[in-house]
Amino acid sequence: MTLKGKTALVTGSTSGIGLGIAQVLAEAGANILLNGFGDPAPAIAEIARHGVNVAHHPADLADVAQIEQLFAMAARKFGAVDILVNNAGIQHVAPVEHFPVEAWDKIIALNLSAVFHGSRLALPGMRARGWGRIINIASVHGLVGSTGKAAYVAAKHGVVGLTKVIGLETATSNVTCNALCPGWVLTPLVQQQIDDRAGNGGDPLQAQYDLLAEKQPSQAFVTPRHLGELALFLCSEAGSQVRGAAWNVDGGWLAQ
Ligand code: NAD
Repeated sequence: MTLKGKTALVTGSTSGIGLGIAQVLAEAGANILLNGFGDPAPAIAEIARHGVNVAHHPADLADVAQIEQLFAMAARKFGAVDILVNNAGIQHVAPVEHFPVEAWDKIIALNLSAVFHGSRLALPGMRARGWGRIINIASVHGLVGSTGKAAYVAAKHGVVGLTKVIGLETATSNVTCNALCPGWVLTPLVQQQIDDRAGNGGDPLQAQYDLLAEKQPSQAFVTPRHLGELALFLCSEAGSQVRGAAWNVDGGWLAQ
């Protein structure tokens, strides 16, 4: 399958899952608009290796005005967003009664509201061109809860709901909207949780083992490439009748 001539905007793609998905889409020939914090040079170089057009925009997606600037750049530079991967997300762990209000607001803004804003900005162009894919990176926490993750679980459940609505609203078109729901993927977001578990002087390998053993029966991490390959499938003709789905990729987490 080729995505040559198509443009993918992958939010939060300077590291982790977003970068992994961008790599797989670039390998299939898609031009890539990267987004995310930190030095984008390594991610740009990695994508450019595949001979596709690549650019980066540093928009903070917790800010609606900056999301609009990101889409304005996509139109200027690439003319279209054919594939939107709403991936950027953050985590904060604390019990509800101690959950910092600013952390709640930030997580809802980035993990949920940015998915709405990106989708509303991408859809008119997708409909006009008669083809589009919106792929939301939700989480198993879009389908089940865990203690300490009130904002994250609320936001990801919201993403799964929003995915269903967009899946229905586009059901008679060649635009689809689906969510991927990963279990543990070893990225900076999860490394932080492993480090917190290990604490000062703890054994990080034991903490990693405990983290997997608690929830993920395979006791192996999902990889960004696993998710990228699934995103690529959703872009294919074979994936064209997958609509409004929340597809868990979780080493068996939700089978328990
Ligand atoms: P990560 O920390 O490696 O990457 C997050 C990316 O988002 C980075 O590029 C970062 O710069 C960017 N980002 C952070 N705040 C931003 C903001 N305000 N505006 C724009 N970009 C911002 O995390 P990850 O593990 O790759 O997570 C990616 C997505 O996958 C998130 O939505 C996360 O909830 C989801 N997810 C992760 C796991 C996991 O186990 N790692 C599991 C399920 C779901």
